[in-house]
Amino acid sequence: MNPTAPLTTKTNPLLADKPLVIAGPCSAETEAQVLDTCQRLAATGRVNMLRAGIWKPRTKPGLFEGIGTKGLPWLVRARELTGLPVAVEVATAKHVEDCLAFDVDVLWLGARTTVNPFSVQEVAAALRGVDRPVLIKNPLNPDVELWTGAVERLRQVGTGPLGLIHRGFSSYGQTEFRNAPMWHLPIEMKRRFPELPILCDPSHIAGRRELLHGIAQQAADLDFDGLMIEAHQDPDAAWSDAAQQVTPERLAELLAGIVWRRETT
Ligand code: PEP
Ligand code: MN
Repeated sequence: MNPTAPLTTKTNPLLADKPLVIAGPCSAETEAQVLDTCQRLAATGRVNMLRAGIWKPRTKPGLFEGIGTKGLPWLVRARELTGLPVAVEVATAKHVEDCLAFDVDVLWLGARTTVNPFSVQEVAAALRGVDRPVLIKNPLNPDVELWTGAVERLRQVGTGPLGLIHRGFSSYGQTEFRNAPMWHLPIEMKRRFPELPILCDPSHIAGRRELLHGIAQQAADLDFDGLMIEAHQDPDAAWSDAAQQVTPERLAELLAGIVWRRETT
């Protein structure tokens, strides 16, 4: 990677489709799991981009922390087989470097990164002058200033196009949602950054698959630009976030049942 390379004028994959649907497993686990899930997603004809976590920020130690860099070639293969671009979460400069080495199409900052200005700054510095689209999830806590700060830090270094992902906000104790949607916060970000596409991640808001449809429909009603949603070849056997994942075929049914505002006006 040459961080001083001039910006290229690749088309912006964040604006290619509305709704933009980014789908794939919470975690890349094995090559077979990635390829099977991604090919089945592509076969639905309802997915514009693939996702998979390569490095997983886990709340407690001892859980699966991601397959690491060795999973990136699996995503490259999935891209070749499906023709769909791929998106990966990055939290450190090394993650950025590895993703760029495999020409990962879109990067995203997770909620545990957006919450930490040091981490955002580290990722931003690694992306200085690199024309690569970056999606920014909301921070774990309901703080639009932190979310805004992450947008500003990335803008300052001049990356590729940016976008936002609403994945809900954590709270204490048993609640209906894994992460409370607090819809007024993404709406405030839409007001602050009307030029940025905003996606909803119903998977991490819901925490369980039964709630996905209602959340996704609410995002459509609020004129979000698309969804990032987790899908797995065998959801109950997933190594992370099993309860909130659905099969590619179930995802296709779910997506078919969502009415997007632009389709009805
Ligand atoms: C994920 O997308 O798998 C993830 C870890 O999400 P979040 O940063 O929203 O918790
Ligand atoms: Mn997940």
